[in-house]
Amino acid sequence: MRKTTTKLADGRELIYFDRDDAAFRDEPDRRPLEPVANLSEVRRDPATGDWVTVAAHRQGRIYHPPTDQCPLCPSTNDHLSEIPAADYDVAVFENRFPSLATDAAPAPGLAHPAAPQHEVSRAPGDPEHPHDPFHLARPGVGRCEVVCFTADHDASFADLDESKARLVLDVWTDRTAALSRLPGVDQVFCFENRGAEIGVTLAHPHGQIYAFPFTTPRTVKMIAAAADHRARTGRNLFEDVLAAERADPVRVVLSGEHWTAFVPFAARWPYEVHLYPHRRVADLTELSEAERAEFPGLYLQLLRRFDRLFGEGLPPTPYIAAWHQAPRRGGAELALHLELFTIRRTVGKLKFLAGVESGMDAFVNDVSPEAAAQRLREVAQ
Ligand SMILES: [Zn+2]
Repeated sequence: MRKTTTKLADGRELIYFDRDDAAFRDEPDRRPLEPVANLSEVRRDPATGDWVTVAAHRQGRIYHPPTDQCPLCPSTNDHLSEIPAADYDVAVFENRFPSLATDAAPAPGLAHPAAPQHEVSRAPGDPEHPHDPFHLARPGVGRCEVVCFTADHDASFADLDESKARLVLDVWTDRTAALSRLPGVDQVFCFENRGAEIGVTLAHPHGQIYAFPFTTPRTVKMIAAAADHRARTGRNLFEDVLAAERADPVRVVLSGEHWTAFVPFAARWPYEVHLYPHRRVADLTELSEAERAEFPGLYLQLLRRFDRLFGEGLPPTPYIAAWHQAPRRGGAELALHLELFTIRRTVGKLKFLAGVESGMDAFVNDVSPEAAAQRLREVAQ
């Protein structure tokens, strides 16, 4: 893999990742782009402890552009996109309208008096930094990147070949290592939203990476559950869950030598699969070569099965693919895994997050996890 780091016209980083070690990249960004001020802060909800990002500058972002104006396609003489090159393998760039940024500052009117603008290390209860515990806020320091999986506008991740999917895995790994070293970053989240039903505003196959300045709420819950399990049994929660699912494989969808994918016992979504490496690791950077080599084949199979779930001739299955990685602080028990799920429950019907889910975080799933696993095995071919 060859990695070439360049800058876009407004100073944002653009990184090409090429399978060809001889690839040469020096195309300049010819657009007249002004730098965007990143006005963002994170606020802690005193009732739940959850951090919420308030990014008041994002309303101007591009929304469903026509195909010939796609910002993720390679540039041509007629259309200058975010990628100056005429072609690429995988390209990563800093989001022009990020929710989190290394130079983030609260917007005027957002900044709370209790939050000095460049104070990033205040923790609740820190005696060095007394503050109002009900109005904790910090600048939204972090980074948001866009990962273009392919130059082919009409493809999807499931259309990639194994060597390209492997390149994407290596890119996620590279970005996890780089972003987790940024000052103030606590957790790196690589994900893909696929399909207009999920709220994707650009059709071009791409994912995103968020480098958060806090541990995300779902990870906080997992860490608490793992700590409880450790206290009661002396064992790791994720290792025990994986072992239990593999021992009674009614919910196992597929497995290889190094990875197993199963529908979780208490799945929240109509079709939801968790893919774990058999060896517990904290994040993508700790995967072995053998684990990396096996991942693309299994993951592509899962995505292709998702596209076959509801039969032929439908719009592609909308899905979210979310990498769970250990945060820097307090994540020793967390196990790297991928959670893949769709909000489509049957042909023409989506699972909406209504009162019980959005109001109370209490999910009602209309598809039994065992039936979902059975279906995901049936559509193997
Ligand atoms: Zn495109």
